[in-house]
Amino acid sequence: MTAQVPTAAQVPTVDLAIRADLAVQGVRVEAPVRRRAGAGPSDDGHLLLGGRGAAVPVNPSSRFSVEAGSLLLDGLDTGLEAEPVGRPAFYDLVTADGVPYNQLARLHGDGVLATTVIQTCTRYDPSERCRFCAIEATLDAGLTTRVKTPAQLAEVAAAAVRLDGVRHMVMTTGTTASPDRGARFLARCVAAVVAAVPGLAIQVQCEPPEEPESLALLRAAGATAIGIHIESLDQAVRNRWTPGKATVPISTYERAWRVAVALFGANRVSTYLLIGLGEDPDELVGGAMRLADLGVYPFVVPMRVLEGTLAAADGVTGPSAEMVADVTGRVAAHLRAIGMLGEDQGAGCAACGACSALSSAGG
Ligand code: SF4
Repeated sequence: MTAQVPTAAQVPTVDLAIRADLAVQGVRVEAPVRRRAGAGPSDDGHLLLGGRGAAVPVNPSSRFSVEAGSLLLDGLDTGLEAEPVGRPAFYDLVTADGVPYNQLARLHGDGVLATTVIQTCTRYDPSERCRFCAIEATLDAGLTTRVKTPAQLAEVAAAAVRLDGVRHMVMTTGTTASPDRGARFLARCVAAVVAAVPGLAIQVQCEPPEEPESLALLRAAGATAIGIHIESLDQAVRNRWTPGKATVPISTYERAWRVAVALFGANRVSTYLLIGLGEDPDELVGGAMRLADLGVYPFVVPMRVLEGTLAAADGVTGPSAEMVADVTGRVAAHLRAIGMLGEDQGAGCAACGACSALSSAGG
C-alpha cells in the first residue's frame, strides 16, 4: 500500500535547493573527468561535493564555481566542500589488441567504472529514438568502439580497480533487435569481469527482454543489481520522448521489474524517472513511490539536453531547479520513510547517485 505523497514542506530544502540549482545551472570548473554525450540522459563533469559524487553540467556562465576546495555561488562560499574528480591512471593504458582503455570504459564519480557494451541501438532511427539520447554520437565522433568484448572489459576493470580503486561497475547497452534486447551479451561481459575481478559489484542495464530467462542469466553471471529504465510512467510522455521504447507497454516493464526483484532482491532493481519531460509532478512522485514499494529504486534525475540529441535540435530546455528540488525532495522523503537507500543497491547508478540529487535529500 502506498503512503500519502508528502508535501514539499515536509522535506529538507536547504542543501537540496543548492544541489538542485547546481544540477540545472551547472558549474564553472575544469573537470578532468567529464562526458558530453553517450547513452542516456546525462551530460556532466564529475565532482566530489561534500564527499559525494556529483555529475554536474560544466557551464562557463554558471553562477556556481569551484575554487580552493569549495563551492562558491556568486563568489561566496556555500559552505560545501567541492573538488573535481582527478583523471584516472587507467585512461592512459591501451589493451593488448591496441584499443585505448578510455574508449572502452569511463570513470564516473570517483569510484564507478561505466561502459556501454553495445554502442548502437535498434531504436536509433529518428522516428523511434529517445529524444534525450546520443548513444551513437560518441561512436560517430570516434570516442568509443561499437562493441566492447568481454575480454577487453575484464582487462580494463582489473586495471581500474588496481590503479584507481574503482568500487563498482555499470554496464549498459544499446537495445538490440534480438528478443533478449542485449541481455545475453551483457551476461557474457559480466561473467568475464567477475572472473577477472572477483568481488567487483556490477549493475547491468537493459530494456525488458522478451525472453524472461535472460534476466536469470544476468543474475547467474554474477550481476549484483539491474536497471530497467522506463524514464516516465506517463504513456503520453513516453510516446513523445521515447517513441520506440513506448511501444513496449508499461505492463511489460512492471512484469520485468517484479521478475528482477525476485531474482536480484528488493532494492537491487532500479529505474530512471526523468524530471522535466512534461509529466505532472504529483503523478511523477506518486509513481516513484509505488515503484519503491515494489522494491524498485526510483532514480529521479533531471533531464539534461545533450549535444547531438533530438531534444537539442528541438531547442528544448531542462526542468527548473524548483521542480527538481520539489520532486526529488518528496521522493527522498518516501525513500527515507521505507528505509530504501540508493547506496544499498550495491552497484550502479542509484548506488553512485551522482546524476540525481536524491542522496543530498537522504534517499
Ligand atoms: S549515476 Fe550512473 S550515469 Fe550518473 S555518474 Fe553515476 S554511474 Fe554514471
